Amino acid sequence: MRSAMSEEIAPRPPQLLRGRRMLTCADCGWVHYAMTATEKADGDRALERYNLTPAERVAYESAFHQCLRCESPVSEFRDACESDLARAANHLVTPVLIDDV
Ligand SMILES: [Zn+2]
Repeated sequence: MRSAMSEEIAPRPPQLLRGRRMLTCADCGWVHYAMTATEKADGDRALERYNLTPAERVAYESAFHQCLRCESPVSEFRDACESDLARAANHLVTPVLIDDV
């Protein structure tokens, strides 16, 4: 497993995310990737069995439009630069839903 680990900490986004639009929170620097409407719909379907309350659903939806860490709105994000991506290799890159993908 050692070789797999060193692959993971390489300073670039995971293979899955290559070619994606990456966005950085202007406030705290957390890196997110832009998810597609299709992926969002898949997530929604996966969630259906949990029977969320209306309040929980609002929280779930808003999570896709703000920074995971500091809750800044997606409208405050900027495109990620190389150093952002290098830093992102050390944390979980989380999805956000933006309208103009
Ligand atoms: Zn943030």
